[in-house]
Amino acid sequence: MDTILTIDNLQKRYGKVQALKGISFEIKKGNVYGILGPNGSGKSTTLGIILDVVNKTSGSYSWFGGTSNTQQALKKVGAIIERPNFYPYMTAYQNLKLVCDIKQIPYSKIDEKLQLVELIERKDSKFRTYSLGMKQRLAIASALLNDPEILILDEPTNGLDPQGIRQIRDIIRKIAATGTTILLASHLLDEVEKVCTHAVVLRRGEVLYTGTVTGMTSNEGFFELKADNLPQMKEALANHPAVTNIEEKDDKLVVVLSQPVAGSELNRYLFEKGICLSHLVLQKHSLEEQFIQLTSTKTTN
Ligand code: ADP
Ligand code: MG
Repeated sequence: MDTILTIDNLQKRYGKVQALKGISFEIKKGNVYGILGPNGSGKSTTLGIILDVVNKTSGSYSWFGGTSNTQQALKKVGAIIERPNFYPYMTAYQNLKLVCDIKQIPYSKIDEKLQLVELIERKDSKFRTYSLGMKQRLAIASALLNDPEILILDEPTNGLDPQGIRQIRDIIRKIAATGTTILLASHLLDEVEKVCTHAVVLRRGEVLYTGTVTGMTSNEGFFELKADNLPQMKEALANHPAVTNIEEKDDKLVVVLSQPVAGSELNRYLFEKGICLSHLVLQKHSLEEQFIQLTSTKTTN
């Protein structure tokens, strides 16, 4: 699978505030990633650094496997990290024409993207007549004009009413279905659960979890397992009826379950297949519960 972005031990200090304490994760093509964390956990700082609007203190990141420098790479990135800002007295179409002029994109893209964000019927309305949700959707259309490899959104549903939130989430899912990689920052667990395939959970500038959303929210929890022969263990686990997902993380396997399995039972199952475990930990509910405690807001959409 192609790697879009690799972040390695990134640190950021604003004066006395250590906003990022060495975060690492990877973004692979075609997935939808959520950076999930309460306010102040370092989400916007992370996005700012990879988009070259905030200076890092130390660590590194590389776009597209290091094949292009940041400036070249950012031409293949569509990002919305601030409140959408267009000319209020111009229509949506006129505003996007300006963006096309600046980025040297054919105007033919405008209708295609307005269709995608469901604003085609309002393309000739002035920007100032748009609701906040429509403004946000127009910003998404604008960011997509050059068919970027990855779309980056910072808290895309903040401040919207329930209907506006639902529309944005539907559109993000639609964009993901076309194969565009997405990275979004959110402080809402249910938002990440609903639209993302993968999550990076941040707390006070540290990564608490990286992996699939299923692994993060699985009710039956997940095992962390270590053995000398990981590929052999992976194969054996793939045949276990209660295992729904297996991921390699560092030198461990993270194994997500669809029904409860006792540690002793899993140990015996693997032993009978010739695998001796050197590490077995069952994490039950932990991340989701921890996260809910960390955040006070939870929407119902
Ligand atoms: P999030 O987007 O998750 O809410 P931020 O990345 O905005 O978090 O902030 C992370 C930490 O860095 C917070 O403690 C915040 O107060 C601090 N911070 C962010 N931007 C600045 C800045 N420009 N100057 C000083 N401190 C900042
Ligand atoms: Mg933020």
